[in-house]
Amino acid sequence: MAVVIVGAGMAGVQTAVALREQGYQGSLVLLGAERHPPYDRPPLSKDVLLGRAEHSRFEIDFARLGIELALGRRALSVDLEARLLKTDAGDLGFEQLVLATGAAPIALPGQPESAFLLRTHDDAVALKAALRPGTRVAVVGAGWIGAEAATVARQLDCEVTVVEAAPSPLAGALPAELGERTRAWYEAAGVRLLTGAAVSGIAPDAVLLTDGSRVPADVVVVGIGARPDNGWLAGSGIALDDRGAIATDARLRAGGIPGVYAVGDCASFPSARYGRRLAVHHWDNALQGARVVAANLLGGELAYDPVPYFWSEQFGHMVQVAGHWDAGDEWVARGEDAVLWLREGKLVALLAVDRPRDLAQGRKLIDSGARLDVARATDPAIPLKSALS
Ligand SMILES: Cc1cc2nc3c(=O)[nH]c(=O)nc-3n(C[C@H](O)[C@H](O)[C@H](O)COP(=O)(O)OP(=O)(O)OC[C@H]3O[C@@H](n4cnc5c(N)ncnc54)[C@H](O)[C@@H]3O)c2cc1C
Repeated sequence: MAVVIVGAGMAGVQTAVALREQGYQGSLVLLGAERHPPYDRPPLSKDVLLGRAEHSRFEIDFARLGIELALGRRALSVDLEARLLKTDAGDLGFEQLVLATGAAPIALPGQPESAFLLRTHDDAVALKAALRPGTRVAVVGAGWIGAEAATVARQLDCEVTVVEAAPSPLAGALPAELGERTRAWYEAAGVRLLTGAAVSGIAPDAVLLTDGSRVPADVVVVGIGARPDNGWLAGSGIALDDRGAIATDARLRAGGIPGVYAVGDCASFPSARYGRRLAVHHWDNALQGARVVAANLLGGELAYDPVPYFWSEQFGHMVQVAGHWDAGDEWVARGEDAVLWLREGKLVALLAVDRPRDLAQGRKLIDSGARLDVARATDPAIPLKSALS
């Protein structure tokens, strides 16, 4: 059996490693469009951007594991019937295929070449070189990436302004009242935050806003989100969901097609736990999903239904979120630094700021479907695990 994995990011790499760990001895090719040895992305907006690390390569001996790396090689299309992958360096046959192409950053309409995105190693290295003390930096977007980029730019003594179209930071991710609480972090760090500020264009020396004002800037960083990188699958017969993610079944089979799997940022999966399809653009999903794909490639029947998890390091704070909530789910505060989402008394999600113990305990409680005694759970002095009803 020959397995070909498209995409040499976290999900692709971890699928390859898990296949070997789980005893697969056949041919294994890991195809990656980037020419760099496979690397991890979270450090790009943290230690790599700050200059504390030169790179974030995975410390994995691919040769020893018998994983054939085909780097700098892009998949262009797939013929499922012929079991053939067309790439920019010739065709590649497969018996089983894993799609792990991640996501591509969204650019502003008409974004000039001079503006920076932050998705790849090359992006981080180029931006790092531009972040000199005193540089006027405008970050477009106060989401996770924008907040982390602003944090680092400030640490490097840049003059930083963050421009956000929504009324509050982290608007795409958190209820407005919670995102709003991070505004004080910008102030404390000396970062100017403009909310409700929509960008109309980028000039050589400024970000232009729709109200006619200008934010002077030597360097512009655009962090307004990412989309699944699946354009190359058009016409392949592999179904995408309404947001362009590869729609898998519960076992992470792409469109339910036998022998074809999708995992990581490029995919969405049906979650029985949350009663909806989830697309999770976070590191832990790429890791956990990969292990399930490997097991199923080897004949397993595992359903993938994780408690999603991610973290963000911004303005000296560790923000951690476990679980998933929908608009209708109510949240309650657990002191100043944690928030719980409950559905019919059960904990479904948790946000914790600088409270790793809450996160660890909450994640387990979500996984077990535990019911909480709200009065105890909202008292931050009581360990969450002792707040069961
Ligand atoms: C700057 C940054 C910071 C982040 N920080 C955090 C964090 O703090 N916490 C957290 O939980 N998550 C974080 N994330 C998200 C996390 O890194 C991603 O969820 C994770 O990398 C997803 O892994 P993936 O393998 O699915 O996709 P990717 O890492 O995007 O890898 C996909 C790979 O596929 C390649 N590819 C695409 N198309 C093709 C093709 N047609 N042929 C061949 N190769 C192809 C791409 O070049 C890419 O290398 C961060 C992301 C970024 C960009």
